[in-house]
Amino acid sequence: MRNETPESMRAWVLGGPGEIRMIEKPVPQPGPAEVLVRIGAIAVCHTDIEVLHNGHPAMIEGESPFNKDFTMGHEYMGYVAKTGPSVDEWQEGDRITAEVHAGCGRCPKCREGMYTSCHNYSYRSKGHRANGFTTDGGFAEYAVNNINTLVRAPDHLSDEVCTLTVTAGTAMYGLDAMGGLVAGQSLVVTGAGPIGLMFIAIAKTLGAAPVIMSEPREDRREMAGKLGADILIDPMKEDPVAMVRELTGGKGADFTVEASGVPSVVNQTIYMTNRGGRLCLAAFATDLVPTDLAYVVSNNIYMFGIRGEGESAVKRAAALLGQKRFDPAPIHTHTFPFEETPMAISYAEDQTDGAIKVVVKMD
Ligand SMILES: [Zn+2]
Ligand SMILES: [Zn+2]
Repeated sequence: MRNETPESMRAWVLGGPGEIRMIEKPVPQPGPAEVLVRIGAIAVCHTDIEVLHNGHPAMIEGESPFNKDFTMGHEYMGYVAKTGPSVDEWQEGDRITAEVHAGCGRCPKCREGMYTSCHNYSYRSKGHRANGFTTDGGFAEYAVNNINTLVRAPDHLSDEVCTLTVTAGTAMYGLDAMGGLVAGQSLVVTGAGPIGLMFIAIAKTLGAAPVIMSEPREDRREMAGKLGADILIDPMKEDPVAMVRELTGGKGADFTVEASGVPSVVNQTIYMTNRGGRLCLAAFATDLVPTDLAYVVSNNIYMFGIRGEGESAVKRAAALLGQKRFDPAPIHTHTFPFEETPMAISYAEDQTDGAIKVVVKMD
């Protein structure tokens, strides 16, 4: 079966800050080690909203992504529509989801496998690709992907839910970066956004106990409960640090994950961490963060900043999803058609109607 791809496609592109418009542009052609993907569905990520307003962390050859007919969007799934020269790893029609980063493959970080920390970030001319950040992403009918970013989509997941695989990969990467979770170890997450919720789901799946969520919004706390949190803390009503200590025999949690980005919460998360425990910073803090580093040092706490979904974590997250070890479906709250992408973005941005993951479904 060979579907001819059209010559042009509809794509949302960035104008100036805060501007997004639909244009007709040529369907890109896959090069060696690349495939063309027909987009099936794409989720709006908080980072897309960041890019829309500030440009960063999207960058094209070291420069701002504005006014370059650049298409953002990185949490998508779809179908292989065309394979590039020499590609025999994937066939037309394969249902896939894609991780974001294909590093340059030539810098020391890429050679160490840390391609989300590539030193040639944004330089397509040096081979670097990051979907929707440095190369055109998925708010379009088609997107080119390096084959090393493709992951087979779990069959039982709908197109909409399948877009969450990348988010699950980020949580998996965080747990990997911290040195891996051992069943029975305790874990706390502060902030029940999509990434915080995925940390809950994956940690629970891997045997963490207890799994604790601290989140001020009631609907989000409930969601954390659905995804496997054993204990839900409302930090507006009770002192989350005291609660975590009480729940862990006065010692603090073995693993803590800061997924809120709220500066004051970052320091609380430090105080929730056990001696010799590990703290993962998974959110972009909205400001400089005053932290009690003496406490970190004197308690031998290890801190890990993670970027993206490195070390093929998306593949491992997809394996857990494929085995139905957890159900991410509740995180997907809204769906919009492609024409209404700006509406989808504003729903995600304003968290309208309890929106968590807003997905654009192609027709
Ligand atoms: Zn994202
Ligand atoms: Zn590199």
